Amino acid sequence: MNVDIKIINIGHLYTPKKPAKSYQVDTLTNVEIAINNGKIIAIESALDTYEAKTTIDALGKVVLPGFIDGHTHLVHGGSRENEFDLKLNGVPYMDILKQGGGILSTVAATKNASVESLLTQANKSLDHMLRFGVTTIEAKSGYGLDTDTERKQLEVNHLLNEHHPIDIHSTYLKAHALPKAFKDSKDEFIDSVLDDMEQIKEDKLAQSVDIFCEDGVFDEKDTQRVCEKAQTLGLSLRIHTDEIKPIGGTKVALEYEAKSIDHLIMISDDDIALAKETMTLCNVLPSTSFYLNKPYAPARKMVDAGCMVGVSSDYNPGSTPSENLQFSMHLAALKMGLTPEEILCAVTLHPATSLGIDDHVGMLDVGYDADLIICDVPNLAYFFYHYGINHVTDVIKHGKQVVKKSQLIKEENHVIN
Ligand SMILES: [Zn+2]
Repeated sequence: MNVDIKIINIGHLYTPKKPAKSYQVDTLTNVEIAINNGKIIAIESALDTYEAKTTIDALGKVVLPGFIDGHTHLVHGGSRENEFDLKLNGVPYMDILKQGGGILSTVAATKNASVESLLTQANKSLDHMLRFGVTTIEAKSGYGLDTDTERKQLEVNHLLNEHHPIDIHSTYLKAHALPKAFKDSKDEFIDSVLDDMEQIKEDKLAQSVDIFCEDGVFDEKDTQRVCEKAQTLGLSLRIHTDEIKPIGGTKVALEYEAKSIDHLIMISDDDIALAKETMTLCNVLPSTSFYLNKPYAPARKMVDAGCMVGVSSDYNPGSTPSENLQFSMHLAALKMGLTPEEILCAVTLHPATSLGIDDHVGMLDVGYDADLIICDVPNLAYFFYHYGINHVTDVIKHGKQVVKKSQLIKEENHVIN
């Protein structure tokens, strides 16, 4: 039989097994993979009857499913290295914010940025992600806080999804921060969040809705209003909650069957007990804790309780300016005490389940998308033991090789800038 690609000489192939949340990982040794029309059509010990246009020799290395980064703030204007000095000198974030810095400076830069410059900047980030083995991401708006800029961010997501090999799930996050103009009229701002949601749904600009539910920003009631509206419109929910202080956001999110609750540094035992009964992704973001010198979310406790834990980068210009999901994975092992197998599930099958794509992405099996990576490690434990470098040498997305020997293969339809 003729196929597009055959991968031979795979030392070990690791893949999560369904059901999600069982944390089971299969290890296959000395196998070959046949890929045709973007799909995996065979994983067997010898595929001699398959004639391939391209044969990739894995040289005895490890093959894993492509990683899924389930929480990013991909599209934004500017960067904040000018605040780095202040941060290192211990100036509190709230003081930086008062001087017009922090999220406010990113909002201003994003408002002023052209679509072209946003595309160029985000495309570069996607290239970094791809080299680190990420083949699908979730990306939020949230640096406009007004109708036009929020839509501009989502439109950039849409264009990138069409042109870059990485698949992008878009989330509408106008309720990321309260604009100064609405300082004394928060309800009116939430009204505008709800009003814009209808058109966004109609224009298919986002599949999910998010709100930053934290003390002094948006509260339980605001979260409830956003969840209610999103549910009515058939948009799924992914909620920022319990990062700084638990104020009830997690309970509300779970009541509305959110697909994901994110951060969870301060999640209570009661809320863990509620979350374990659901298929909501408990998405922890350890790179943010690292960058802000904050405690780490109790991921070990959540896995032990039976929650579906995810690990994501939270890539953003303020609290985690890094696209490197592998670093988050290392922190999940070293600082949160998760095992390599648990973390593999947390960056593949679990986020795929929460994004509703687990019927074709998130594991390696016949009939699944050929989204996979080759890592220059002898086994899965080594991937986590040897930290701080990029282990990924080759990336196949939708059955096409997009990274070869650590170099991006750029096709016409890939490069935007
Ligand atoms: Zn975030």
